[in-house]
Amino acid sequence: MPRGITPRRPARSGRQDRVGKVVVQKPEARIASSRTGGAKTQATPKAKKKSSYDPLAPDRIAEILRCLEQLYPGATCALTHKTAWELLVATILSAQSTDVNVNRVTPELFRKYPTVEAFAALTPEQLEPDIRSTGFFRNKSKSVVGAAKKIVADFGGQVPQNMADLLTLPGVARKTANVVLGTWFKIAEGVVVDTHVQRISRRLELTTNSEPQKIEQDLMRVIPREKWILFSHQIIWHGRKLCIARKPKCVDCPLENVCHAGDKTWSTVDLHKDAVG
Ligand code: SF4
Repeated sequence: MPRGITPRRPARSGRQDRVGKVVVQKPEARIASSRTGGAKTQATPKAKKKSSYDPLAPDRIAEILRCLEQLYPGATCALTHKTAWELLVATILSAQSTDVNVNRVTPELFRKYPTVEAFAALTPEQLEPDIRSTGFFRNKSKSVVGAAKKIVADFGGQVPQNMADLLTLPGVARKTANVVLGTWFKIAEGVVVDTHVQRISRRLELTTNSEPQKIEQDLMRVIPREKWILFSHQIIWHGRKLCIARKPKCVDCPLENVCHAGDKTWSTVDLHKDAVG
């Protein structure tokens, strides 16, 4: 039996009807169709309906945002920090690691080196043992020490508050800059695109791209600017809690009725094979 068409519980009332504009084929009809080799499929109406589907329709985007708000109200960054500099360091360390892992390392790290000037006085080799457990520690040491030196030399010891200056720091690309600008300075300059945002944006058909920069541009077009900061955090939490990479918990997901991801584990709506994380 094809994946994703077995109704293990009744659809929630109302919401599924709206999605029905796309294609809602009853499971019995699909089963009959597969048994007859597709001879009795309803190909014509299916094609017509599918062409009217717009994954970026404002009411669909609003429903996604509503569900995220319900699931993760006030979501924020999970990296422990007390200053913009600490958040910058923690974000650099979080690459290819988990926030939990970084949070294990940073309290002692910031106790040992309490200021950006203290980091700037180090060599990368001196820092390596302290951040080893976060992985890729040689590159991360170079980035953190390099960023500290540049902040002290060029920005008066203050983390810059704009994208252009942040991008001049070693080891800082748009994702890290957006985390610092959004979380610490509350400046919505872009959308944080990490691995969760990449995966879920594709599953929800908010983008067809796979490059972070293009995904960010797509999200900036469809998500209202005042939601950019919160949306990133909500999607990251969703990626941790429900929409996990290998086996999303679709049966528990309130977004299920508006999600046509081709790699869903359970579905009341048709799957779109290209919408995979
Ligand atoms: S229904 Fe499944 S794939 Fe879609 S957003 Fe929810 S958990 Fe992710």
